[in-house]
Amino acid sequence: MDKISPEARSRNMSRIRGKNTEPEKYIRRLLYHAGFRYRIHYRELPGKPDVYLRKYRTVLFINGCFWHRHEGCRYATTPKSNREFWENKFTRNVQRDKDVYDKLQSEGYKVIVIWECTIRKMMKERDFETEILFSLIDEIKKDSLKHEKHQPVHL
Ligand SMILES: [Zn+2]
Repeated sequence: MDKISPEARSRNMSRIRGKNTEPEKYIRRLLYHAGFRYRIHYRELPGKPDVYLRKYRTVLFINGCFWHRHEGCRYATTPKSNREFWENKFTRNVQRDKDVYDKLQSEGYKVIVIWECTIRKMMKERDFETEILFSLIDEIKKDSLKHEKHQPVHL
């Protein structure tokens, strides 16, 4: 495992998708300690949000930068082989996300996306962690009605 360069490792990390990833558990832990209560992978809502805060009518998606194509992010690389395959796949992923967010917002849910690279930086830098956690709590507590016509919040 230590033969992998840090760069290759972070690239691997950014490819992880699926549930209960390390960044996901980290954010849940922070929210829990901040006093929030929530459901996870909530099946009754479009896109099975990673975190659902019923009290605030708010959902959180913890997105891997590679799969969900974080714009301008260094983790959103495109593999050199089978380029067309990947590009099609990514286009579908992005469209699927957009459809899910639209649907949730039209049902009056506030959508917050937290990118994996933000979380990784939070895990490394205490000040940054505090800063982002405060903005997150701020967004969660905002009146959801004001969000209806807005784009999802990205952190
Ligand atoms: Zn990113």
